Amino acid sequence: MNPKLSDRVNQMATSATLAMAAKARELREQGKDIIGLSLGEPDFTVPNFVKDSAIQAIKDDYHSYTPVDGYGDLKQAIITKFKRDNGLDYSPSQIVVSTGAKQSLANLAQVLLNPGDEVLLPAPYWVSYSDISKVAGGVPVEIPTSIESDFKVTPEALEAAITPKTKMMIYSSPCNPSGSVYSKEELRALANVLVKHPSIIVVSDEIYEHINFTGPHVSMAAFEDMYDRTITVNGVSKAFSMTGWRIGYIGAPEYIARACNKMQGQVTSGANCIAQRATISALETSPSAIQYMIDAFKERRKLILGLLKEIPGFKTNEPEGAFYVFPDISYYFGKTLKGKTIENSSDFALFLLEEANVATVTGQAFGDPNCIRISYAASEEDIKEAISRISQAVS
Ligand code: PMP
Ligand code: GLU
Repeated sequence: MNPKLSDRVNQMATSATLAMAAKARELREQGKDIIGLSLGEPDFTVPNFVKDSAIQAIKDDYHSYTPVDGYGDLKQAIITKFKRDNGLDYSPSQIVVSTGAKQSLANLAQVLLNPGDEVLLPAPYWVSYSDISKVAGGVPVEIPTSIESDFKVTPEALEAAITPKTKMMIYSSPCNPSGSVYSKEELRALANVLVKHPSIIVVSDEIYEHINFTGPHVSMAAFEDMYDRTITVNGVSKAFSMTGWRIGYIGAPEYIARACNKMQGQVTSGANCIAQRATISALETSPSAIQYMIDAFKERRKLILGLLKEIPGFKTNEPEGAFYVFPDISYYFGKTLKGKTIENSSDFALFLLEEANVATVTGQAFGDPNCIRISYAASEEDIKEAISRISQAVS
């Protein structure tokens, strides 16, 4: 018998997004024609100017360990980006570059949470927030929202969820999975609650910042009275289609940045040196250089919303950013489809995989068991075919 694994990993859920993507890959290898709308990753290639910088970095012999918190000139590019796009002032000692925003979030949980600390997660929330918190000893506290309120948390619901044990709140805007974008007024209303509770740290995940079809993006840290308690998380995976290059970063109060630097120094060291050099080009370039991707996502959103409207039992909000739709499919609960009784959204996602050959993700993993998440970061052809298959499977 093998020695036992730790309770820590045994109690951890497998990432539902990655698990579904792996399952789709496996079925494809078996010869099935699966359309993958499970993983949130742009289908564009990396812009040429970014690729060129990476190639140049290899030619220039970048090869060694980097400073744990990132190259100085990359940190400078991040500081300039934060000022340009978000009106935020950071100094180099407040910036930490990591191996993806996922590691930025994991660092934050590790350096801020003690066992029993509560982490507020307005639901639906990005799948990994919950387990990243739990593995650090935190206790996720979901704050339910509804499709009627565009899946946004109200100040009243936030206030009601706060206890003396609340340590942190994590949210994303634009939101993965709902696509909701908080306006300045909405964020200010949440900030008005949070300023009354100065021991709560806010983690503002802004990785979909540029994939925003509505008004301007607003950073929580831009409110003067929130700056000292907010960590701004961002990265290049989504906006620059650099998911596999693994670069994320934070702007944070200095003592938190220093702690993340210490944590990372014992776990992974600095992020990949070539990807860091390429990220300088990505961030120094005007966001207008990636507008073509945003325009394409906007067109696909229109396409998929139109197609989903035709399917009975699919209720959607209008996502204002990111590249997901998050339909409420609870209409199908208790119904028997092709001999299978659908009890919950996981059953429904599995049904779609098996009967429609379309990979989506159960809403359960995002804290909303009535929904499924469909990524429309796919070609128009695939979107059309996938929705037609879903429609046939449920009809
Ligand atoms: N936050 C959100 C909301 C995401 O959707 C993702 C997607 N992977 C991440 C963080 C992590 O991004 P990455 O580690 O690729 O930078
Ligand atoms: N963030 C993407 C998603 O939600 C990528 C997968 C992941 O990192 O979990 O699908």
